[in-house]
Amino acid sequence: MNSVASLTGRRALVTGGSRGLGAGIARALGREGAHVAVSARSSDDLAAVVAEEERLGHRALALPTDLAEQGAGIELVADASQALGGVDILVHAAGHLVRQPALEYDMEQWDAIIGVHLRMAFELSQAVARDLVARDQSGSIILIGSLTSARAGVPGTVAYAAAKSGLLGLMRALAVELAPYGIRVNTIAPGFFPTALTQDVQDTPERQTIHARIPMGRTGTTQDLDGTAVFLASDASAYITGEMITVDGGWSVA
Ligand code: NAD
Repeated sequence: MNSVASLTGRRALVTGGSRGLGAGIARALGREGAHVAVSARSSDDLAAVVAEEERLGHRALALPTDLAEQGAGIELVADASQALGGVDILVHAAGHLVRQPALEYDMEQWDAIIGVHLRMAFELSQAVARDLVARDQSGSIILIGSLTSARAGVPGTVAYAAAKSGLLGLMRALAVELAPYGIRVNTIAPGFFPTALTQDVQDTPERQTIHARIPMGRTGTTQDLDGTAVFLASDASAYITGEMITVDGGWSVA
């Protein structure tokens, strides 16, 4: 008998899957038996991720897509559904962060960040939910928040923080509307993880300040999200929806 966290037979779409947290989550889902479509902008990086997943015996395929374009999420979900035979699990980890002082914040940058983190979260969720409802299947949608979603004000991140906070409202509204269809919607809020997205901070003395504020005494590794991602994707969390789980080594409660 499969464990309650088994993802055998499930089909997952992970955006931002070419590197960083998305690639780590894709691997964790694959390890539990999910067939995973990874998406991001760079087809070369995605090909390397898929090759590594296949080397590990996981089932994976690459769907390069630029999610800056409106409508790209609808096409991506259609492609993933066709390639996998449906999408049961969505993880939206694609996104970028540009730090600018609020007084000088560029509005094009604002639109770009809100677009990929928030608008696209809804576009993808709606498309996956429509696909699930049409197939009369249950599913799990996982959004990637941040400490800026609810816990921290971080200088230079007005658009990012607005998008990440908006995800929680989106999550709650979707959770109650989609619950009758057996579709759950939850959020993972990571603390500080050294990835390309946080490279600018890693290169500054602020990194030491962050280290000092994390009770567990270290920043996150991509494996630190494995358990939470598998939990939320699987039947292990079958009665949980509309919830945010913070994974930050205790930073936000210190
Ligand atoms: P990363 O830069 O390593 O990876 C970002 C991924 O998103 C890449 O695969 C990239 O190709 C993809 N992406 C970016 N813009 C895209 C676009 N327009 N179209 C398609 N794909 C696009 O960053 P990461 O740290 O792995 O971040 C992943 C998620 O985790 C993001 O939502 C980020 O906000 C969130 N997050 C990260 C941290 C952290 O400390 N690293 C903390 C909290 C939340």
